[in-house]
Amino acid sequence: MSRDIVLTGLRQNNLKDVSLRLPKERLTVFTGVSGSGKSSIVFGTIAVESRRQLNETFGAFIRNRLPRYERPRADRMENLTAAVVVDQKPVGGNARSTVGTMTEIHPMLRVLFSRRGEPSAGPATAYSFNDPQGMCPACDGLGRTMEPDLDRLIDPALSLNEGALRPYPVGGYVWQLYARSGLFDPDKPLRDFTEEERELLLHGGGFKVDRGGYTNTYEGVVVRFTRVHLKGGLNDLDEAVRPLVRQARCPACGGARLNAAALASRIDGLNIADHCAMEVTDLIGLLERLDDPVAEPALASLRRIDAVGLGYLTLDRGTSTLSGGEAQRLKTVRHLGSSLTGMTYVFDEPSAGLHPRDVHRLGELLLELRDKGNTVVVVEHDRDVIMLADHVVDMGPGAGADGGRVVFEGTPGELAASGTLTGRMLRRRKPLKAATRRPRGWLTVAGANAHNLKDVTVRVPLGVLTAVTGVAGSGKSTLATLELAARCPEAVLIDQSAIAASSRSTPATYLDAMDPLRRLFAEAHGVRPGLFSFNSAGACPACKGRGEIKTDLAFMDPVTRVCDVCGGSRYSAEALSYRVHGRTIADVLAMTADEAARVFDLPGVGRLGELGLGYLTLGQPLSTLSGGERQRLKLAHRLHERGGVYVFDEPTTGLHMADVDTLLALLDKLVDAGNTVVVAEHDPDVVKHADWVVDLGPEAGRFGGEVVFEGTPARLARAATHTAKHLAASLP
Ligand code: ADP
Ligand code: ADP
Ligand code: ZN
Ligand code: ZN
Repeated sequence: MSRDIVLTGLRQNNLKDVSLRLPKERLTVFTGVSGSGKSSIVFGTIAVESRRQLNETFGAFIRNRLPRYERPRADRMENLTAAVVVDQKPVGGNARSTVGTMTEIHPMLRVLFSRRGEPSAGPATAYSFNDPQGMCPACDGLGRTMEPDLDRLIDPALSLNEGALRPYPVGGYVWQLYARSGLFDPDKPLRDFTEEERELLLHGGGFKVDRGGYTNTYEGVVVRFTRVHLKGGLNDLDEAVRPLVRQARCPACGGARLNAAALASRIDGLNIADHCAMEVTDLIGLLERLDDPVAEPALASLRRIDAVGLGYLTLDRGTSTLSGGEAQRLKTVRHLGSSLTGMTYVFDEPSAGLHPRDVHRLGELLLELRDKGNTVVVVEHDRDVIMLADHVVDMGPGAGADGGRVVFEGTPGELAASGTLTGRMLRRRKPLKAATRRPRGWLTVAGANAHNLKDVTVRVPLGVLTAVTGVAGSGKSTLATLELAARCPEAVLIDQSAIAASSRSTPATYLDAMDPLRRLFAEAHGVRPGLFSFNSAGACPACKGRGEIKTDLAFMDPVTRVCDVCGGSRYSAEALSYRVHGRTIADVLAMTADEAARVFDLPGVGRLGELGLGYLTLGQPLSTLSGGERQRLKLAHRLHERGGVYVFDEPTTGLHMADVDTLLALLDKLVDAGNTVVVAEHDPDVVKHADWVVDLGPEAGRFGGEVVFEGTPARLARAATHTAKHLAASLP
């Protein structure tokens, strides 16, 4: 029996007939530049096929209730085992999901409290904020209440006719409910309303008003807003409405989410909410002192959280506030607790967000998973994780159409001695920059105290590149994205949040290049621009502008085939009958950004080349871009905003060491154009390239939040902080 997973003739996405064998029960790392095809093998082929084959083992009744997977494009895929994907997708925005619930430590604490709590509130559900028995009745266990933000809802200086109801345009339906109610003088500014009039406008209701011919029940602005928009939980809030809503701590439970009986039950003077508000490292100490076997399962999980470098988290932290890297490491913790063996675990850059200090502990956990008898497959850029692998597959040589081949297979040692780009990068030890730029001036951020920051005052140099460093949880993101960006009105913040995109978004739509392109075609031929949109008038009637037709038969895998009417172009025959520079609109969307930039003058498209994305086609669906590609596309879109101050949160996530060089060249360009650039980062190559470093620490969470070093990288290399030690060790 073969010990290997055998893959033959892989052609998913950009893969060029790739064949390879992966050793089972070993740690295999996939490397290569962003867009080379790592995810296409690991997620797009191995994980998908393994799930598809697993689903096939069920009867039709169950199979019809499982997600359907299409067979990846490949000749043969053999010896796969059941796959578990641990990725950086945010862990659901559900307001009821906390670090404690997702790691299943909260239920363990509930059992502990039902046994040891004084007085006991009852069985374990009496301590659950997601169960009617335990939840605070005032906020239904959410810990927060929501109310309309009056400052944003009304403008007291204006009258109804002048648009005092900010979200509701004059003349619109909602505006009419008030301005045409006959209850108010529509020309009187709201600040001149009597107390009664104001009360009626905002909170009145319950009576009928005649609106010229028909009657309806009057509701004050706040009453109506609350009924229409705030009836669901926080996460049901419409994006558009969110800015109009103020959240407040629930007055009944003080944010603890639990009812009085649950909160009255204590162990050594602390209730379950107090336990969940403690940092994991502190909670470990507390439970160890309790010395009770009932606490052991919780302790084992808490120690794993600490081991993945997340000891600064609290169990009551909402999962929607976690970064992608934090979320992924928590998912890892959950799987480490499982006793399943013989699985294939698939990770997407598990080191994301981790300081070099903590990477080896993460590596140990991956090896622990392997040693339980699992196959572990990881996409990674971090040298330390690569060097831990039993086997490495290096993809390349380039990105997109220039990638899709295996350029190296073997041990990490052999890779580091090889001539591939990754091999050369692994050998490289970048020196410090010869000379740092001189600041043009200083911006002082005084009294920064968000999250764990301890009232710090930081000077940020203007007109240079600054790195904000420190171990994970020390406060880098908080300082850079919350405190600094909030104090510079012109700051452009580029963080890790996903780009909002519909299934029909493409680089062209995202960069706002689609409208000019449609106008160009329309004006050249004297027709409507809508004809050149596959979302409206120009859509191929057969596939409705999708370009493909999906056949989903009950007992078979879904099959997607290219629409034979439009040949996959998505456009109607009429739209395709018009040409500009000899090309149809579909031809243009099939051009790479580099080609298109040479022929057409379209916003943003030329910048894709500078960001190393010149190989993307204008019409490639955004859903198909790799994480690194998506981030750089976002950069291309945001970089033309003239900010003066650019703040980046861990921009190297998803980037190969060679991609990091491209990114640094781009940051240099920004600085040389007169901008101030601040980057929260842990990658030593970025730190070496900075002109100035603000190092936070000394540790994470409660033990962090202080400035432990400010100065040039050369001085940092001689200092004694965690970042300093790793910087010094990485120099030639
Ligand atoms: P990596 O993981 O190495 O960054 P990916 O495997 O995500 O690279 O992508 C490899 C190439 O295939 C990229 O150029 C990407 O844009 C392209 N690609 C990925 N998914 C799709 C898809 N569904 N359709 C078309 N192209 C795709
Ligand atoms: P870093 O960027 O250095 O990893 P962060 O700024 O993300 O650190 O976190 C610093 C501290 O602030 C940590 O203790 C973290 O748990 C806390 N924190 C960060 N974001 C939030 C949030 N949305 N809600 C509550 N605490 C947070
Ligand atoms: Zn409450
Ligand atoms: Zn079609």
